[in-house]
Amino acid sequence: MSPAHTVLQDVFGYEAFRGPQQAIIEHVAAGGDALVLMPTGGGKSLCYQIPAIVRQHQGYGVTIVVSPLIALMHDQVGALHEAGVKAAFLNSSLGWEDAQDVEWQMQSGQLTLLYVAPERLVTPRFLGLLDDLHANGQLSLFAIDEAHCVSQWGHDFRPEYHALSVLHERYVGVPRIALTATADSLTRADIVERLHLEQAEQFISSFDRPNIRYTIVEKKDVTNQLLRFIKHEHEGDAGVVYCLSRRRVEELAKTLQDNGIHALPYHAGLPSDVRQLHQNRFLREEGVVMVATIAFGMGIDKPDVRFVAHVDMPRNIEGYYQETGRAGRDGLPAHAWMAYGISDVVNQRRMIDEGNADEQFKAVLRGKLDALLTLAEATDCRRVRLLQYFGEHSEPCGNCDNCLHPPAIWDGTDAARKLLSTIYRVHEMSQLTFGAGHIMDVMRGKVTDKVTQYLHDKVSTFGIGKDYSEQQLRAVMRQLLATGALGLHKVTSENSGHVFDTLTLTPQSRAVLRGDVQVLLRESAAASRTRSAKRSTPTSAAAIHLEPDAQARFINLKAWRAEVAKAHDLPAYVIFNDATLVGIAERNPQTLADLQGISGIGAKKLEAYGEEVLRVVRLSA
Ligand code: ADP
Ligand code: ZN
Repeated sequence: MSPAHTVLQDVFGYEAFRGPQQAIIEHVAAGGDALVLMPTGGGKSLCYQIPAIVRQHQGYGVTIVVSPLIALMHDQVGALHEAGVKAAFLNSSLGWEDAQDVEWQMQSGQLTLLYVAPERLVTPRFLGLLDDLHANGQLSLFAIDEAHCVSQWGHDFRPEYHALSVLHERYVGVPRIALTATADSLTRADIVERLHLEQAEQFISSFDRPNIRYTIVEKKDVTNQLLRFIKHEHEGDAGVVYCLSRRRVEELAKTLQDNGIHALPYHAGLPSDVRQLHQNRFLREEGVVMVATIAFGMGIDKPDVRFVAHVDMPRNIEGYYQETGRAGRDGLPAHAWMAYGISDVVNQRRMIDEGNADEQFKAVLRGKLDALLTLAEATDCRRVRLLQYFGEHSEPCGNCDNCLHPPAIWDGTDAARKLLSTIYRVHEMSQLTFGAGHIMDVMRGKVTDKVTQYLHDKVSTFGIGKDYSEQQLRAVMRQLLATGALGLHKVTSENSGHVFDTLTLTPQSRAVLRGDVQVLLRESAAASRTRSAKRSTPTSAAAIHLEPDAQARFINLKAWRAEVAKAHDLPAYVIFNDATLVGIAERNPQTLADLQGISGIGAKKLEAYGEEVLRVVRLSA
């Protein structure tokens, strides 16, 4: 067995490498430079932690990890201590004496890994310390985490990262590994150039997250839909619910709390101590549901988030993929759930129209929104479409709503033509545009006050849509809006002064009116409810496959873990992650030997917690 593999098993307690880990680790441990692109949860940390340990054994000294996420360093170092690895961090949260102590540990060869913030790394003082280590051959490796921060194209540009080119110039011969979860090629090229990684080997993984199940539902009564989703499929699980507005965050957090869900609000308008407190509780406590705006999530390194729900549609697929990617980093089943409706389309369009961007940029934004709408309306595999968006080809996944319950499809071409011609006729007659409700009334032949007022019962299309339900017509409208065959036009009511959206034809409407374009639609969930009435029983998603006895052990192990984590001031998953608890619960170990080989139990943890775990297992019988 290679030294890297021995470390994987003995120190981290994992049986096998995941995906490209082995190739990366062996390359870096042998002194090569690397650029690693791996999705969130892919297992990037081990890609530098194992080389650090292996190279330390070989006498190369300390590995320096550059990370912008100061808030996480404490937990990352805590996790390494739990595994018996000598590590420390240096950032602005340390007092002068503690910082001196850490520096001394580094200089005297006591550390395998040192985490440091970029602004600290490039100070003359710290570079001086590194110079000494380098001169003595005790500078083993640089790991540059979140490497996309070096790029202005990335979503999290940090000017301090530019200064990291010093590493390559000043410490010749010290290997470097840069890691990121950001996919696009522009950012990648920038990283290579700015960090001088032209000679580095590139390891680019698939961006697929196979353990995440994608579900997109039609929005009807979204609060109740969300409550049902959490209660039926994620009782007691940690999750994030994303909303667009701060007000909505507060309302929804309250509603979830009133329904017995451990929910907390998070948005940029809350005082920073409240935000900090809520974030800590989310990280530290079991089963917290964070209701948040997109202000929440960057750098949140919690592996056991079991679901990410969107009650409002994000702006584009990049945002959607990044936010949903925070679910299931531990590789266990997780769920990305989104509800969307016609109001989302209208709102997002309005935000683009009213924004300050120039027309060219607005066109780009509209195109990105349309791509997300197309995903939402899709009747085939969601994952195939998502990956295709990122330039990856794949086969139907078997783990999205459309694969699991193929939606019934109906041909909405006729309904779409009737809808568009009604809009045309009504406009022709009144020289005004009207909202969706009124157009549907005319199509369905309803004699309302407004219909009478405008004499719209006299238009030739009055009642031609009688055979369609309101829900079907709404679906047609969504689809036409999504594809641009229907436009929106803002009107101010003369009576009330309210601004509302009315429907208009667009240049793309013609092809649909002529019948040149087929309009295929998902049969609405309501219509097909009888077919998919199967309800899952409420259980934690991580433990869903366990037998009842094992379930009981799992629950007791979780309670025990919570106590230990609290005593150590660390998040629970640092002690053992859910996958490890599931492994223990399944095996029902009676002796220390039985615990060996369960994923996530390395030598140090076996020694520290083995007896305790056996006691909890025995008590659960
Ligand atoms: P990333 O930084 O890429 O988001 P992490 O390094 O945090 O991912 O790893 C995600 C999770 O996967 C962690 O809980 C980690 O312990 C686990 N993990 C990583 N590699 C392996 C492996 N080879 N076998 C089992 N679990 C692994
Ligand atoms: Zn699928």
